[in-house]
Parts: sequence; structure tokens; C-alpha cells
Amino acid sequence: MRLALVNLSYLVASVLFILTFKGLSHPRTAVRANLMGSVGMLIAVVATLLLLDWSQGVQRYGVIFAGLAVGSVVGALLALKIRMTAMPQMVALLNGFGGAASTLVAGAALFEELARGRMPSNQFTVATVASGIIGAVTFWGSLVAFAKLEEILPGRPILFGGRQAVNVALLAISLLLGAGLVARPDLVWLYWAIVVFSAILGVTSVIPVGGADMPVVICLLNSYSGLAACATGFVLDNNMLIIAGSLVGASGIILSEIMCRAMNRSLGNVLFGGVGAEIVTGAAADAVYAGRVKAASAEVIAMVLASARRVVIVPGYGMAVSQAQHAVRDLANLLESRGAEVEFGVHPVAGRMPGHMNVLLAEADIPYDKVKEMDAINPSFAQTDAVIVIGANDVVNPLARTDPKSPIAGMPILDVDKARTVIVIKRSLSPGFAGIPNPLFAADTTLRYFGDGKKAVLDLVDALKQENHLVRPDNQASTRAQ
Ligand code: NDP
Repeated sequence: MRLALVNLSYLVASVLFILTFKGLSHPRTAVRANLMGSVGMLIAVVATLLLLDWSQGVQRYGVIFAGLAVGSVVGALLALKIRMTAMPQMVALLNGFGGAASTLVAGAALFEELARGRMPSNQFTVATVASGIIGAVTFWGSLVAFAKLEEILPGRPILFGGRQAVNVALLAISLLLGAGLVARPDLVWLYWAIVVFSAILGVTSVIPVGGADMPVVICLLNSYSGLAACATGFVLDNNMLIIAGSLVGASGIILSEIMCRAMNRSLGNVLFGGVGAEIVTGAAADAVYAGRVKAASAEVIAMVLASARRVVIVPGYGMAVSQAQHAVRDLANLLESRGAEVEFGVHPVAGRMPGHMNVLLAEADIPYDKVKEMDAINPSFAQTDAVIVIGANDVVNPLARTDPKSPIAGMPILDVDKARTVIVIKRSLSPGFAGIPNPLFAADTTLRYFGDGKKAVLDLVDALKQENHLVRPDNQASTRAQ
């Protein structure tokens, strides 16, 4: 009876997880979906703790609840304190702890089987080995990803000769030790040896990846953490862990693939290409920018915006850094109140994590129907009077179309250069993640406004309000010459 109730609870939790994934695919349903996932996890945990027959095991509820309390407090504090731009690091840590938990639980299960004098089955040991390898790679790989993003380790790729061979050798040793454990499950030291070699593999496989490629690696590690949990599910014969782990494993790999496609790169190139190791010299930037960049004042830009009928706002990583989303919403509202049509164009890899811009725009209550994906907005740029690019760089770089040697060659971009006027807001002429100059900033139709994203947008809002006072009362276009 108890077991039936446990399995029923697991079934309910699994259905909730599947619904969570469906809901997370749209910002409108994402919050409710998140809640459903949390409820599903709560049901699974409560069912495991209260309903499972623990009579054969050690009932140490005190330790379990102490762990739950400490974990909950640390998790809640981290979630409250984390900066939005530091979310990839936070996800890296969460994945890492998931991997570590799987490795430890599988190891403990092996100990327990042997302590009870039972010889583990082949399914048990194969799953234990899988959990040990994948979990250890996930934990240590995630720690490296975290350290790179937090700049504890250098963000650029750390390349060493023969790294591919070293990684293959480490994996081969781990698998050989794993075969040994399947043959002789009583040799528990083999399990910890597997964990040590896999831990080194986790470090050596992530350290050659550049900091800005880390979000892709983090998605992949997320997938690994799911696979490790799935393997642990087979160790414990726990269907819920198997289902939840498979869902995480599959979604993580799909997301990594989507991100790579949006950057026009292969997963292999991200993992092994060492992209970002070469620093672009100032000479290349000088050739593109020298004497061609037109800086404009807020007043001049306000005049351009005042006469625009259609405006598209393109946010990028700099909007996230400067937390300009609320100021951007105010600017959009002001333009709309003057009769302009305003839309937002979002590139799939703008920012530093999938959906980064969508989350920020939703946080500022910008209606979803105004936020257009790249393919939907691109055909409209030719009919757009003004594009405001705020803190975006690579995702609007025309070199992706014109320079086959560029690191972003072939990456689909937002075709903002086709608009009548492009207003680019960022602090300097520094490159973005790809490390290359952007000819858009020196184009004839581009006006540059230098400054921190939020401050710049607030300046434009003020200037546009001033411009409002100069507009005739019948709300016709400004009489000033453009
Ligand atoms: P970029 O990294 O190309 O450029 C961001 C720009 O923001 C910089 O040039 C910087 O210029 C500017 N900036 C930084 N701080 C501020 C600030 N406070 N105010 C105003 N501007 C600021 O960003 P994009 O969003 O255009 O492109 C994302 C890049 O990241 C792509 O190359 C993508 O492939 C990569 N990437 C994205 C992932 C994702 O999941 N979204 C994952 C992995 C990689 P300045 O210093 O002059 O202000």
C-alpha cells in the first residue's frame, strides 16, 4: 500500500515536471510553471521521506531535516542576493551540486549494499559507475565554469598541448576502472578512483573553454547533472529520479544545441575550439572606426526619435549590465505616447544566457506581443525609422554577413543596419564577446551615444520630454529641421 502511494506521488510529480517544461517555453506561463515544478519536487521529497518503507534502513530524520534546513536557507539567500547578470554562475553551481549529490548517493548506495552483505547486480554497478563518472565531471566542470565567470580563474581559454589526448585518456581510465568495479563490486576503492579521474576530466575539459562560451557549457553540464541523477535513479530503483533526470538531460542538450545554432557554431567548436584565446588588436579596430564614428548629443537623438513613426529597440548584454530595462520601458512608453509604433527585436543569444533579454523585458512589464524574435522582426527593419541598439554588439554586427573569416561568420544577426537611422548606446568602442570591431558603429546612418546604458536612456527620455514642449499643440511633428 505504502509503495503504491509512493509510486502514485512520483507519478503526480513527474506529470508536474513535464507540465513545467511545457510552461517554461513561454514567458507568460513561466512563473506558474516554475511553481508547478517546485510543488512536484515537494511532493516527491515528502513522499520519499514519509511514505517510503525505511524499516530496513537507518532512520536519521534529524540529519535529513538539518540538511534540508541548511540547504534551504543557503539556497534562498543566494537566490535573493544574486545579480541578474550572475545567473549563469548560479546555475553552474546548482548543476555542480546536483552532480556531486548523484555521485555521493550512488557511492553511499554501493557501501550500503555491501554492508548488508548483498552482492550488487550488474545493473546496479553499471549505473553506479555512470553516476560516479558523470556526477564528478559535472561537479568539477561546473566549479571551473563558476570560477571563470566570477573571474576567480582567467576568463580566456586556458589551452595546453595534447589536451584532447589527455581528456580521452582520463575518460578511458575511468571507464576501465568502471569495468573493474562491475567485475568486482566489493572493491569500493575503485569507485573513488573513478571519481578522482573523472573529477580531473571535469577540470581539463572545461578549462580550455572561453568564459563567454561558458553559458553553452553550463547548459551541457546541466544536461550531465540530469544524466547523473538518472543513473542514480537506476542505482536506487527510483522511477521519479529516472524520469526527472532524463527530462533535465534531454532539455539541457537541446538548449545547448539551440544556442550553438544561434551562434552558427558546432558544440564541438564551443568545447574544443578554444574560441576567445586570441585577443583582437587595436589596429583592427582603428581600421574600422578611425574618423568615422559620429557621436551625437541626447538632444540630436531626441530630434530623430521625435519624428520617427516606427522605432525598434534592440537590447543586448549591456542592457543587462546597466539594468536599463525599466528606463527602456519608459522611453518606449514616451515614444508611443507621441504616436510612434515601438517594437523590441531580440536575438536568441543576446546577453549571456538563453532568454536573458526576454526575462529583463518581462521584468519591466513590456508586453510580450511587442517583443519580436529575430526572424519576425528582420524583414521590418527596412521600413523602420529608428533603431535604438542598447548594449548590443555582436548580435548586430554586419561582419557576420560580409566577412567569412570573422569568428561570427554566418551567425544570423538582427539586420538593424537596414533601418533609416541606428542609434547605438554603449560606453565605448570596446568589442563584445566575439572580440571584433563592429562596422555598424561607423556606418553613415549610425549615431553613437556614449555612456552607461541606463543613464543614457534616462538622458534620452529627458531630452525627448524637452522636445515634447517644442511640438505644436495639435501633436504634429516637430517643426525643427532634421
Ligand atoms: P556583446 O557581448 O556582443 O556586447 C555587449 C556590449 O555591451 C559590449 O560591447 C559593451 O560595450 C556593452 N556594455 C557593457 N556594459 C555596458 C553598460 N553598463 N552600458 C552600456 N553598454 C554596456 O553582447 P550581445 O548581447 O550583442 O551579444 C551576446 C554575445 O554573447 C554573442 O556573441 C553571443 O554569441 C555570446 N553568447 C551568448 C550566450 C547567450 O546564451 N545569450 C551564451 C554564450 C555566448 P562597452 O564596454 O563599450 O559599453
